[in-house]
Amino acid sequence: MKPATQWAREDLEALSSRGLRRALEPLDSPQGAEVRVGEERLINFSSNDYLGLAASPAVRAAVASALERYGVGTGASRLVVGDMVPHQRLEARLARFERAEAVRLFNSGYAANTGILPALVGPGDAVFSDALNHASLVDGCRLSRARVVVYPHADVAALTRALEQTPARRKLVVTDSVFSMDGDVAPLRDILAACEAHGAALMVDEAHATGVLGARGAGLCEALGVEDRVDLRMGTLSKALGGMGAYVATSRAVADLLVSRARPFVYSTALPAALCAGAERAVDLVEHDPASRERLWGHIHRFTDGLRALGLSAEPRSAIFPVILGEPSRALDAARRLREAGLLVKAIRPPTVPDGTSRLRFCLSAAHSTGHIDLALEALRRVGVSRGP
Ligand code: PMP
Repeated sequence: MKPATQWAREDLEALSSRGLRRALEPLDSPQGAEVRVGEERLINFSSNDYLGLAASPAVRAAVASALERYGVGTGASRLVVGDMVPHQRLEARLARFERAEAVRLFNSGYAANTGILPALVGPGDAVFSDALNHASLVDGCRLSRARVVVYPHADVAALTRALEQTPARRKLVVTDSVFSMDGDVAPLRDILAACEAHGAALMVDEAHATGVLGARGAGLCEALGVEDRVDLRMGTLSKALGGMGAYVATSRAVADLLVSRARPFVYSTALPAALCAGAERAVDLVEHDPASRERLWGHIHRFTDGLRALGLSAEPRSAIFPVILGEPSRALDAARRLREAGLLVKAIRPPTVPDGTSRLRFCLSAAHSTGHIDLALEALRRVGVSRGP
């Protein structure tokens, strides 16, 4: 056996014995409230397609027409020859949506976060990162080679102490706005005050807030009216916007620097132009058609009330609802039983979440009907999922 195969077999066995081995399972349908997996038709509670735009006819039509005009691949990074008119149009459209001086696109949220942090800070600097930040921010911090100070989740007093006590040339605070595995919301006003008091820059990852929070759907910063006080607002095109890619809303100077310095921007082939055209259409829908967002929020309140009636704790903060069960086997077992009842809701296990907090993670979407929400609550009642650990 070749060495790498031997290593992989050993590691897979270790993962399996702890209930942490992961496996793929393809859908044979678009994202939506109901999806097909093999012969099963399941109600989908695991997608980040919060507004149902991944299969929207209007977005598909925009993608199809740009696909005709620009083809599929972009042939090179944007700096070489991959930059096309739809990339520029989308950046301008997103800048208007975000009320920002400038926007820079990335190929994914992961690429954005691992590119932006090292472009701005390095040795001699310090990054202050919430303990529950997304893995892409964690990796961006590591890649920057700045000193990384992880503060306890949402603990602004601890963040403030760290800002006071850490000597550094530049200080950058980074936080998710909606935390991806818990659905809770960062105490952004207080974080911002701490940053301003200590001359620190602030970067906010709005991946799960874009399209969901704010009157125009521009995220938590918009909801709180603090857009122009935050240095970098990162958003994804891959969740509520239903496509692929990400962006950062920032100043012209930062956007210009990223073109020269963010390695995933410089060294990776540009997004397909057709996806940019689709995202532009999706932004129009998010901004000017609040009905989907209102439907989603109706579901969020209905699901919160229903979970509470089942004795589970829940808050209407975002479209993400964790049901924490403890050990991986409990989460896997609950997911299997819910699936027998027709629900697709994935078990989330370490290292995505801390040890002992394996969970079911329900994501709601405007694509769901109230009937789907009620079916989920009824299935939870029937299979007797109760909060652990
Ligand atoms: N940030 C957060 C908070 C996320 O949840 C995710 C995706 N799960 C990302 C960034 C990465 O985004 P993408 O999937 O577009 O790479």
